[in-house]
This record gives sequence, C-alpha cells and structure tokens, in this order.
Amino acid sequence: MRVAMYYANDDVRVEEAPIPGIGEGELLMRIEASGICGSDLMEWYRRDKVPLVLGHEVSGTVEKIGTGVGKYKVGDRIVVSHHVPCNSCDYCQRGDHTVCETLQKGTHFDPGGFAEFLRVPAINAEKGVYLIPEGVDFPEATFAEPLACVLRGQEKIHLGKGHSVFVIGSGISGLLHIALAKARGADRIIAADISGFRLGAARKFGADEAIAADENLAANMIAANNGKKADRVILCTGALSAVTATLESVEHGGTVLFFAPTNEGEELPFSINKVFWKTEVTLTTTYAGAPPDHVKALELIRDNAIPVKEMITHTLPLADIQRGFDLVATGDESIKVIIQPQV
Ligand SMILES: [Zn+2]
Ligand SMILES: [Zn+2]
Repeated sequence: MRVAMYYANDDVRVEEAPIPGIGEGELLMRIEASGICGSDLMEWYRRDKVPLVLGHEVSGTVEKIGTGVGKYKVGDRIVVSHHVPCNSCDYCQRGDHTVCETLQKGTHFDPGGFAEFLRVPAINAEKGVYLIPEGVDFPEATFAEPLACVLRGQEKIHLGKGHSVFVIGSGISGLLHIALAKARGADRIIAADISGFRLGAARKFGADEAIAADENLAANMIAANNGKKADRVILCTGALSAVTATLESVEHGGTVLFFAPTNEGEELPFSINKVFWKTEVTLTTTYAGAPPDHVKALELIRDNAIPVKEMITHTLPLADIQRGFDLVATGDESIKVIIQPQV
C-alpha cells in the first residue's frame, strides 16, 4: 500500500509499505479520508521521531476483523480515535478522560492516517471506534476528532447562552470554536487573527466581529464588544503577544481556555497580581477529546449544527500530500485540507 512518510513539513514522501497484519481484537481499516491537523505540522515536536506516518483525523470502512471483535462487520463506515482512555482509572472515573495515563502514553495507529490502510489496535477497536451516522460523508466524518477536542474545551469552560466570547486565532480550531459557540447560544462572538483570509472565514462561520490581531488587540476587542471584556476567551494560537492580550481581555469572573501550545521553549513572565486583584478569573486548558465528546461531535455533524463541509477548502489525493502540508503551513488560502488515500 502507499503511505505518506513525514520527514519534515517540507519533506513528506509517498512510499510503499506492507499492509499491516491484524491480531486478536484488532481491526484493519480502509481509510477514505484523513484530515491534516495543525498539530501534524509541529515540526519541533516530531524531530526525534521522524520518519513516521502522521494522520489521526480518519474516516473509512472496516476492511478486516480480528478474532474476538463482535461489534463491527466488514464494510461498516467508521471513524476511529487514535487516543483512548482506560475508562477505569481515577481520572476517567471523575470525567477527566483526557488526562488518563492510558490516553496520554499514546495509543497509536499503525502506521498512521495518511496511508491506504490502518491497523486499529485492540484498545482502540474496543474503546475508540464510532459508526458514522447516515448522511455524513467521509470527509465530514474526519471532523469528529477535532470537533471532539473543541467540544471538550467548551464544556469545561461552561460556554453557553448569554456569554460574550473572544476567540484569538481563526485557523481551523478557532473556527470550530466560533461555530460551536454560536451553536451553543453565545451572545456575541469576536474573533481575531493576523490573516485577512482567516478573518473572513471567522465572520462566515459565526463571528459577529473579526478584528486584526495587532498590538492593540485587547483594546480593539473591548471596543468590538460594546466596551466590555469577554466572558470567555479562547486562545487558539501560541503567539506570546496573544497570551498577554488574553489576560487583558477576560471579564471579571470570566474564564480563559488555553487551547494551543506555544513554540518550543517559549515562556511568559506572568504577573499573578494582574489576575489576582479583583478579577477572579479562571485559567484552564484542554487539548484532546474523550469518547463522549466524539459521540456528541458526530451528532453535531449529522445535525448540521456545525457546517464542517464548508470548512473543507481542499480535497487532495495521497500523491499531493506535500501540497496539502504546504497549504496548511501557510494557512492563507486553506481552512481544512483533506487527504484521500484511496485516490
Ligand atoms: Zn487533530
Ligand atoms: Zn483512565
């Protein structure tokens, strides 16, 4: 089969690899669509692991079933999550599935989503496979994972009716946050980005105002929000200047969700006094999704509550994957890029 081997952001090669064999409890998945995620381009994070096959936003069909798998049949349309929790440790029991050690130590795809076929390990086959609802096509279904991550974040900060929301960074994760905040009844949504193209997308997917992320970011946000700070601030970029603006943009009693890593080694001098005196803000983070989030994400996609199809700007065959990585790297003419390994 063909796989896309990642060496660096500008060096992704289509190579031949054997179709993985499967054992007890495992599935072989035929991949029909595979989304390129911003995290696939975190070069510094992969430096010591390359070459490898990336891709974790996958949809396709069950090609082969290992012994002991009773839940699925050949031909079932599925999405699979690459990280699954154990569902039994203390973290899982209290609902913090995404800090579960089993989830974090990495349950992995073999070889990865940018390949024609994928071995789904037994733990993923047991706890991380979801049937694609009728009416949802394969490219749309790849949004189950990224939307699950976004959903978990908004649940954690109890984002809902009446809130003003400030989303900094309007790449795909920011846009999913904007669209979901709108679906959850947020009162007013302000988006920011440095790219005019992404600001246009932010408006299209539900932002009431979209403002340039410059040195006056916090002041401009407050002006766009009728003179008030935002009840919920979601940071979808690692730019350090944006972190500062985040703390200056959050309303007293409000909540900040940090939803993106910074560049390697970057740190921020942080004044506790800025948030301590009279502000009572909550600062929190989430980075992944858990099984219940995937289920809900697929329901939102099925119900057209989040217009994921309109977020797909490019659908490319596996042979063009380098172009896909280039598009995501510049981010100025693409929103979501989907790879079709069978094409
Ligand atoms: Zn992703
Ligand atoms: Zn656990």
